[in-house]
Amino acid sequence: MDELEIHFKTNRQSEEFPLVSPHLRGLVLDVAFYVGRKYGKPILITDLLRTQEEQDAIYGSNPEYWKKPWRSVHEFGRGCDIRSRDFMAAQTAELLRYIASAWPYDPERPEMHTAIIHSAGNGMHLHLQVLS
Ligand SMILES: [Zn+2]
Repeated sequence: MDELEIHFKTNRQSEEFPLVSPHLRGLVLDVAFYVGRKYGKPILITDLLRTQEEQDAIYGSNPEYWKKPWRSVHEFGRGCDIRSRDFMAAQTAELLRYIASAWPYDPERPEMHTAIIHSAGNGMHLHLQVLS
């Protein structure tokens, strides 16, 4: 494979990619290059933009959500989900360390992360986010 290869779950993510934040696109390209070069694999983008309705569907079973529905960076073109089961645990840990060092989320808020592994009701994935 090419050292920089991005796969998309469906056409939707492929069409949305040019529309999201340039910072997010830069981050995704860097992550794809890092993963391609070090692990010889492409990344698979599963989720980019999300509507309020989709946000409601994901968090709808959580009663806390309906008290004060929170917004998602995915609604603003600042979030990207990448399939994480393609990576071994040690690779994931290394990737998270790399992203944290190369792409700090907000120097004013060191507790905030650019990359996390989590499940938001839509399966475990690597969630990437940028401040702007
Ligand atoms: Zn996400």
